[in-house]
Amino acid sequence: MSEKVLFVCSKGFPEGAYIPQHEPVISAFDHGFLYGDGVFEGIRIYDGAIFRLDKHLDRLYRSLEYLGMEVPFDREFITDHMIEVARRNRIVNGYIRPVISRGDGDLGLNPEKCKHPTLVLIADTIILYPKEYYEEGLRLILSSIPKNSKKALNPNAKLTQYINNIRAVREANLRVAQEAMMLDSAGYVAECTGDNIFMINKKGLCTPTTENALPGITRETIVDIARNIGITVHEQRLKPHHFYKADEVFVTGTAAEVCPVREIESNIIGDGNPGPVTRQFMEEFRKATKDPKYLTHIHQYSGRS
Ligand code: PMP
Repeated sequence: MSEKVLFVCSKGFPEGAYIPQHEPVISAFDHGFLYGDGVFEGIRIYDGAIFRLDKHLDRLYRSLEYLGMEVPFDREFITDHMIEVARRNRIVNGYIRPVISRGDGDLGLNPEKCKHPTLVLIADTIILYPKEYYEEGLRLILSSIPKNSKKALNPNAKLTQYINNIRAVREANLRVAQEAMMLDSAGYVAECTGDNIFMINKKGLCTPTTENALPGITRETIVDIARNIGITVHEQRLKPHHFYKADEVFVTGTAAEVCPVREIESNIIGDGNPGPVTRQFMEEFRKATKDPKYLTHIHQYSGRS
């Protein structure tokens, strides 16, 4: 198969261009590269349809607003090119990654020097967690690295700035775990490094509020599903020990989807096997990925009218 392409629109490619995926596209002076000054999204394609496109675009523009970044790319422009790059790369089941950075500037921090934001759209297949994680559950650790204080860096924005999360992933790697639970600065569970987290106990489904976490789109889908199937949802402050003694725990994310947790810091969750409610959410989430109300079909999409 021919090499995959990506779409780039930047100072170097002002009209926008489709170029081979592995060709260099970013200037060394791009403030996304120099300072992590940018935003991104991770979006799934299921059977040729984009899942919850509007929600991802809403969050992308909220993240841009947080950085005070005005961009010449509107929703239609980004959608048209995301769909085109997915079509050109023949992605039927996969992943789209839009990234927008402040663009080419000088070595100083001042964003005023960056006149042309950079947009890069990648569409590719996705590497999944191995099947056994879904059958046996993940091992989690409690990271020693807290989330940034939201006054310093609001975790509601999806920024190209994952240093704390990457440090937490390294801790998990060192301890042979697959994910790490991260606390906010007050010691409450916020989320995992790339996923939101849920637990089930006799009160129903409980999850941290999004005050110190990314408002995950999978998380929102799970909350909708719970309400539809009559499971009470509690969005509340939770400490690690609440998770340790929960009946069931699972994590959610665009890449991970819904994945059971078997162990956190050597505490076995339930009987150590994915529980019945988690299995029900895995099943219902699978159905949601086929629900027309969440989908934008890439071959039916006709673009800007
Ligand atoms: N938290 C973090 C830190 C993440 O990176 C992600 C992945 N985007 C999530 C939660 C889950 O969000 P979503 O369900 O929108 O992918």
